[in-house]
Amino acid sequence: MKKIIVASFQCESNSKAKLHPTKEDFEYFKGEDIFKKLAVKEIFENAGFSAVPAVYAVALPSATVTEDVYFHFERQIMETVNANPDAVGVYIWFHGSMEVENIGSGELFLLKEIRKVVSKDCLIAISLDAHANITDELCNYADIVSGFKTVPHIDQVECQQRSANALVYCLNNNVKPYAYMQRVPFLLKNDTLQTAYEPLKSLIKDTLDLESSKEVLTANLFLGHCWIDAPNTSASTVVCALNKEKAELIAKDLANKLWATRNNYKFLCEAELPKECVKRAIEGKENRIFITDSGDNTTAGAEGESTEILELFIKEKPIKKTCIAGITDIDLVDKFWAKKDGEEVFLEKFGVKAMVKVHGEILGWAKEIIGRSLTFSIGNIDAIFTEKRSAFIEKGNFDKANVDLLEYQIVMVKLGYLFTELKPYADRELFALSDGASCVELARLNLKNIIRPMYPLDEFEFKV
Ligand SMILES: [Zn+2]
Repeated sequence: MKKIIVASFQCESNSKAKLHPTKEDFEYFKGEDIFKKLAVKEIFENAGFSAVPAVYAVALPSATVTEDVYFHFERQIMETVNANPDAVGVYIWFHGSMEVENIGSGELFLLKEIRKVVSKDCLIAISLDAHANITDELCNYADIVSGFKTVPHIDQVECQQRSANALVYCLNNNVKPYAYMQRVPFLLKNDTLQTAYEPLKSLIKDTLDLESSKEVLTANLFLGHCWIDAPNTSASTVVCALNKEKAELIAKDLANKLWATRNNYKFLCEAELPKECVKRAIEGKENRIFITDSGDNTTAGAEGESTEILELFIKEKPIKKTCIAGITDIDLVDKFWAKKDGEEVFLEKFGVKAMVKVHGEILGWAKEIIGRSLTFSIGNIDAIFTEKRSAFIEKGNFDKANVDLLEYQIVMVKLGYLFTELKPYADRELFALSDGASCVELARLNLKNIIRPMYPLDEFEFKV
């Protein structure tokens, strides 16, 4: 049976973040087990191919990946590739913004290594996050590229299937597809780019219309993400078609359209400095108000250690029940873990008396338990501290910490925009423009390695 090698290797990097991902930070499966996490096996098998599993290794966004950790997983994927040099296809689900120390794009390096082993007719299909920073060379090594069409992301399955179906189509019809990448020199505040709203809504519809034609296999917009200081950091379009000229033409047309919208992205909720957000939350009449600490967004690689907003609340002594979820502080969790719920303690760091409210657990990215949480009550403020970096993206995270989300009128989380799962609990959203590794203000990031000119840092014209 003809073979298609399958793998996934993902970690979105953040150059300003301090915590490099460790091997243990990756959710890891090898062999058949990887198909529990991927949606492509049936597509390949139903089409008569054998799906050969390599590795699934996916970590929460973090600082850049060290060579040691990168090669730990890269070598395992290459072992499968080396054992199957006769594969007719390769499918990999990447993020697209993995920056490896001394190497650059982790995706590009791996694709180059794979190309050295497989035959020149072997087709390589990949899927990428909408925030992929595509390197100029990527399409020299990947034949089929598909990206998420939703931000926040909810179409991971469809995206994998789009590439897998295109791969099967090309293999069955013995045709070679062409992927063309067009860089678009803009780098916008990630949180202003959401696909349910214009102008992205119409642009995404354009890509779907293109894909419904026979000649275009995939049409993709990649929005880039501004937290990697590297030359490939920018937005781009990638089109895969059976005709080379057509792929290029459509990718350029999409690029011009994307560029034309550059001034039309705005925050979809109130975006203010932390102090103003705290004031508005306290004064607001809504049932439940969320504040997102965007500069310390753990889902964008930041540490989640900042106590700036907690301290503002401590100063204000809110009458409303307020929850701060969650702050990374292993020392604090260690120090007070032996205390019983209800015991009084003194939090030196903040100069306040507090009560240990409840012991709990941290629900990880892949819904597994990754550590301990300890919640303290400081007046009406309940502050959840976690021994590891956490992301409160859904009610389940609060449940595991043994904290009842519904009890609070103000909730602070370390995110940019609220995840879809939290939106139903928010009657109002305040986007705090805080400092940190995931600060959304491009000018404050001081990027030195990106290619200039870059909108909105520079004024210039762009047309392809
Ligand atoms: Zn993303």
